[in-house]
Amino acid sequence: MTEPADAAARRAIAPVICYPNETLPTPPLGLYRAARATATKIDEVLAPPREAAAFRVPAGHFFRISSIEGPQVGDLNLWNAHDLTERFFSGKTRALHGTHLTTGQRMWSSFPNLRPMATIIDDTLSWYGIDAFGGSVHDVIGTRCDPYTHALLSGGQYHHCCHSNLTRALADATGLSLTQAEPHVHDVLNVFMCTGFTRDTGQYFMKASPVRPGDYLEFFAEIDLLGALSACPGGDCSSEHSSDAAACHPLLIEVFAPQPGALGDWASPPVSGYDRSHGR
Ligand SMILES: [Zn+2]
Repeated sequence: MTEPADAAARRAIAPVICYPNETLPTPPLGLYRAARATATKIDEVLAPPREAAAFRVPAGHFFRISSIEGPQVGDLNLWNAHDLTERFFSGKTRALHGTHLTTGQRMWSSFPNLRPMATIIDDTLSWYGIDAFGGSVHDVIGTRCDPYTHALLSGGQYHHCCHSNLTRALADATGLSLTQAEPHVHDVLNVFMCTGFTRDTGQYFMKASPVRPGDYLEFFAEIDLLGALSACPGGDCSSEHSSDAAACHPLLIEVFAPQPGALGDWASPPVSGYDRSHGR
């Protein structure tokens, strides 16, 4: 198409932030961190390479995801432990916070709830920022590697994509069949994954994760959570995923309980205040 005469002027219009976050409720990070300082470990779960593990975190508790043996990215799903229809909403979280999450930002839940499910209280990779390629860590722009896209682009059957790993982990944790569990698996928080969009073509890219053993991402559970974490078959995602080619490592999930009274009168956030009448 030919450009209109005022094309340059139209492109020069300054962007406006869609959701200015000055009115987002601010998490009480000081309270959370003080409670975390005296919290005690009550559980740990290992997500083996190219597998997922499920875990439960009561509201007001903490969970930490750690790299332990080598660079590895993880695909995280979260559900309300009592209602699988309330689950992490990657798209709205992206709209509210941006393409990648770090300390002080939250994982928001699906409609009609739209409330914080978990708040990031610590991120050892927060130093990374945004690199020269536009890449950053812990994205909410990817979906999860899955066997359907793999079949579309490469053909064949591969069963250890994060989508299938999460499906098996959820089925095992709940007693649902694979067929029943699969629709509850959703777009993830890509823990430790380094991603962005290419500036020239706008394509989703990944690059070797800067994560190293000892790095971790830590969360405060705002509601009772059922989680599942897949140690992605892409390993550090430096080359490819959806195959057994990449070096792959486990990820550790640890759960910590606060001391009684450490959170004062803190309570789980209520669901959205919208009345759901939709104008009728
Ligand atoms: Zn994956």
